[in-house]
Amino acid sequence: MVAGIVRRTVNVAPRAIHHLSCGTLCPRGASLLRAPARLVCHCLLIEGADGLVLVDTGFGSDDVRRPRQLGLVFNAVLGPRLNAPDTAVAQVRALGFDPNDVRHIITTHLDLDHTGGLPDFPDAEVHLIGRELQAAMNPSWRERPRYVSAHWAHGPRWVEHDAGGERWFGFDGVRILPGSDAEILLIPLHGHTHGHTGVAIRRADDWLLHCGDAYFHHGEIATPPSAPRAVAAMAAFDEVDRAARRGNVERLGELAARHSEEIELICSHDACYLDAAR
Ligand SMILES: [Zn+2]
Repeated sequence: MVAGIVRRTVNVAPRAIHHLSCGTLCPRGASLLRAPARLVCHCLLIEGADGLVLVDTGFGSDDVRRPRQLGLVFNAVLGPRLNAPDTAVAQVRALGFDPNDVRHIITTHLDLDHTGGLPDFPDAEVHLIGRELQAAMNPSWRERPRYVSAHWAHGPRWVEHDAGGERWFGFDGVRILPGSDAEILLIPLHGHTHGHTGVAIRRADDWLLHCGDAYFHHGEIATPPSAPRAVAAMAAFDEVDRAARRGNVERLGELAARHSEEIELICSHDACYLDAAR
């Protein structure tokens, strides 16, 4: 750089985005219900010039050591397959990085299958919509089983963001990590949980939108929609706001149809996206 000239940091595409599955779920009776027999926990590892950003963490080392902390019902119904090499921290190491280089974690929401890896990165800032943190810290009796407080017993460095701020393809967006070379926005998609959010990441030629659990099966956002009935039942089972969730699925379907050249949509648990990315 020429002395005296201050180079402005401009958001551009990150160097690389790695697609990780940090845990597998094998729901009981899935084949009888014609539902997917294998669900993944699709996380992203974003390489920025100033460190790594992890989107969701799936299951972590403590879950592998103490699967009981996930709860009897969860383990019986969703059949998690937990292995140490599948954890985000093991995959970060396998890619040749130091886990301490994960400076930021973005959580789509705080359900137990998205937060297990938080204790493996105790120094990272954890970004989320403020409403999600408030709901998880004061859950109703009905919502209590979806959270595992051991996942945040280490005292994460929460960074709460307010929903809204700017527009992104007709959705509200919250720009985060302004000092990073990765252009990343939270796209609030409430309904599955109170503060659930998607995460939009600019790539060289398009955007990748990780929709978390806003939908579960690619058929839900297809035109016309076509998803197994069991998927709809699963989505309805633990939603907190049916109208908001369904409205967001509809809007995501329109987004996918209108902007297929500009945006790739993925969700957390449909294995087809992970298989296609590898
Ligand atoms: Zn989930």
